[in-house]
Amino acid sequence: MDAVVPEISTNVALTDMNTLRVSASAAYFCRLSSVDRVQPVLQFARARGLTVTALGGGSNLVLAGDIKGLVVVLDIKGIDVLASGDERLDVRFGAGECWHTTVEHCLDQGWYGLENLSLIPGNMGAAPIQNIGAYGVELSDLFVSLDAIEIATGQPRVFNREDCEFGYRDSVFKQRLQNQYLITAVTLRLSRQPQININYPALKDALGGLQASPQQISDAVCQIRQQKLPDPAITANVGSFFTNPIVSEEQALSLISLHPNMPWHVQPDGRYKIPAAWLIEKCGFKGQRYGNVSVHQHQALVLVNHGGTGLEVLVLADKIVQAVADEFGIDLVIEPRVYGRE
Ligand code: FAD
Ligand code: NAP
Repeated sequence: MDAVVPEISTNVALTDMNTLRVSASAAYFCRLSSVDRVQPVLQFARARGLTVTALGGGSNLVLAGDIKGLVVVLDIKGIDVLASGDERLDVRFGAGECWHTTVEHCLDQGWYGLENLSLIPGNMGAAPIQNIGAYGVELSDLFVSLDAIEIATGQPRVFNREDCEFGYRDSVFKQRLQNQYLITAVTLRLSRQPQININYPALKDALGGLQASPQQISDAVCQIRQQKLPDPAITANVGSFFTNPIVSEEQALSLISLHPNMPWHVQPDGRYKIPAAWLIEKCGFKGQRYGNVSVHQHQALVLVNHGGTGLEVLVLADKIVQAVADEFGIDLVIEPRVYGRE
């Protein structure tokens, strides 16, 4: 315990705070439930030259080793309606709100738009980092702004949608502003009228192609996910380990001529998105185990940890990247963020 900043503890095990269940620790750790406490904590880190890493539910990161700096869990709660009209309303959510509980809360209130994103693990504060998306909807479709604090200076800053430079499972916070801000709240624009989006094939099939209520969409998404994806509470994983590659039309057409069964989806900009799971399966990895880590038997995008280290998971990921590059000339990109390599 530190006399000035009582929330800070030392040598804290992170094993139960990352869904890959990698055994690693943080040299300094704190859990903050109020924005007011962020400044003293950042001052503590600055005074000691510590790196600061934000941690949410730990469902999209790999701990490659112990973290020598300070890990901060922003457990800031709160759901506040900022502006409300007949059609739409803007709601600010604290960074520590659980994502799926928030989706359920919004449905209960008759605030629509989040149903396709049901059952994504993690917290609100992490949702903008990779512009979470599933079943045809992305966070950026509903995003208004976020409140953040710059780690280096302690300065507060509001980011609007343009500032976040959202892309496919991407944002400025995974690129040039990586690890530079703590997100304390996210504001979303929700609808008072159901916003039905069932164009995504798996969802349309599950609903039998019929019109559905937002609650039915949420239930269907939960059901598909529970059938297809390993539950991180039982099977240690971080969801998709790679993003789906997006390639030029020229490269896609050349690959399709060589592999006529390869699935693809044309993007609005004319490029082609290729499912990474198909590429990995074609390279023979699906269901294979390598020591303490494996590729899930039903979902080749998911790497499973059976008591191994973060480095073992990353070695398997590198092996997959290399094989897909050799076979298809496509460079897969790892989706979760890697920490503890310093
Ligand atoms: P963490 O893993 O704790 O952190 C992820 C990154 O965000 C880290 O870089 C961390 O430093 C940063 N971060 C966290 N909180 C803050 C904050 N307050 N301020 C600044 N930076 C912060 N993702 C999808 O997009 N779509 C899916 O459908 C999906 N399905 C998944 C299914 C499973 C079974 C699993 C295990 C994961 C899935 N994911 C999916 C990935 C993951 O759930 C999301 O990316 C989620 O947003 C991560 O939230 P988290 O709180 O666990 O973040
Ligand atoms: P799926 O339905 O088997 O589809 C395979 C891939 O094809 C998906 O990744 C999807 O890309 C793409 N796709 C399918 N139909 C499409 C369409 N009509 N237009 C454009 N792209 C299309 O996928 P899944 O693995 O079961 O996952 C279902 C959804 O949950 C996906 O949206 C996926 O992204 C999301 N998910 C994400 C994670 C994660 O950790 N990031 C984990 C599990 C599930 P998109 O990924 O762009 O949708």
